[in-house]
Amino acid sequence: MKKIILLLALLFGLSSIAQAETVVYNPNSKIYHNPTCPSAKICKTCIKIDKQAAQQKGGRACKKCGG
Ligand SMILES: [Zn+2]
Repeated sequence: MKKIILLLALLFGLSSIAQAETVVYNPNSKIYHNPTCPSAKICKTCIKIDKQAAQQKGGRACKKCGG
């Protein structure tokens, strides 16, 4: 029985890691926003990508929404 609980805990742990956070990234300014950020909504050049991908591109978190 203990093994099952351990397995479930492991599965839940993995699923939370796999769940990538999506941000709205501006390739011009290299700033990424939370999708709810007003700046993200008016941004026309922005693309929706993973937060990790945005950081890999050299992106910085928006000062207003925190990315
Ligand atoms: Zn923002």
